[in-house]
Amino acid sequence: MIAIIQRKLGAKLFVAFLTVVLIGAVVLMIAIQFTVPTAFNRHMSGLGPGMGMGQGAGQAGGQGMMQGFYGDFRSGVNEALGVAALGAVIVAVGVSLAFSRRIVAPLRDMTSASRRIAEGNYNERVAVKSADELGQLADSFNQMAERLEQVETRRRQLIGDVSHELRTPLTAIKGSMEGLMDGVLSADAETYQQIHAEADRLSRLVDDLQELSRVEAHAYSLEIQEVNLSALVLTTIRRLTPNARAKNISLTSTVPGNLPSIPGDEDRLEQVLTNLTANGIQYTPEGGEVVISAEQKKGDIQITVSDTGVGIPPEHLTDIFTRFYRVDKSRSRASGGGSGIGLTIARLLVEAHGGRIWAESEGEGKGSRFVFTLPIKK
Ligand code: ADP
Repeated sequence: MIAIIQRKLGAKLFVAFLTVVLIGAVVLMIAIQFTVPTAFNRHMSGLGPGMGMGQGAGQAGGQGMMQGFYGDFRSGVNEALGVAALGAVIVAVGVSLAFSRRIVAPLRDMTSASRRIAEGNYNERVAVKSADELGQLADSFNQMAERLEQVETRRRQLIGDVSHELRTPLTAIKGSMEGLMDGVLSADAETYQQIHAEADRLSRLVDDLQELSRVEAHAYSLEIQEVNLSALVLTTIRRLTPNARAKNISLTSTVPGNLPSIPGDEDRLEQVLTNLTANGIQYTPEGGEVVISAEQKKGDIQITVSDTGVGIPPEHLTDIFTRFYRVDKSRSRASGGGSGIGLTIARLLVEAHGGRIWAESEGEGKGSRFVFTLPIKK
């Protein structure tokens, strides 16, 4: 019995209701035992002298009658009280059953929904009927279920994307090897170079994925220090000048001398800037131009990498920051492009610094601008 009460919330509520009713009845009885004699006396004294209990000494017969009268009255009151207490208990049983059902039902719903979620049914939700604490609990439960569903969807998507990305170079390597074995492909330097290039793509993809998972999981710490952005821009330009020269692209910068320094992780910010500038060079045809500029805008420093390259159609401007997204997969691959992870990492790093990143372009063939902001004060 006690075990059932300990395990069932409904039973606990029922016992609580019953205890309240019983305590109420006991208190009522005790109070009545104390108050009835005085009240009885007071009311009886109104009927005439000598009618109260203990009054009118000497009138022995009258007093005896009063005692009997009082005894009857008292047992009448007690009987009425007993019946009333029984009625109250019966009503309490009914009310507590109805109440505890209402209170326990949503909890039961949540228990079974959480079991189904644990079995992998992430679309489970509970109906929120009330605005009280139970309703709030159901609401939080639903939010949690939604987050779990999103995580699960992303996980599935990621596995799908990664296998797709891995399959392409693997298929190419396998095809070349089969060609070599069948004698369809000649065993010359070009064939080996092709295989090597695909293997290289694979290893870059794996590196990118590793970096993405670290950045996405925040499994790195930002080493915040004062960063001089003018110096950072110059370093980036020095590093990428050979790539730009190889394509006969002019790589320049316009940064005002009085640009304030900002708190940030220098290596990570250099990674962002290098990524955007390398993209600019990669997606700009020979003879084009890539410019890095920086300016102060209210409480932010705004850095822009603009190019005169292939441009980005407006419908792709936000999607390119999503992992594995490429505007033109064949073009990106043909030009030795990556896997569409670089901009995702750049976005996560800028956001980790409290900034924003976006792309602008007038359309295909009209060049692109990648802009990111960094707050001057943390
Ligand atoms: P990738 O390694 O494929 O370049 P990114 O994440 O760096 O991956 O870029 C995602 C996609 O955004 C690219 O595949 C390309 O289609 C587009 N993109 C990025 N930078 C530019 C740019 N400067 N000009 C035109 N398109 C760009």
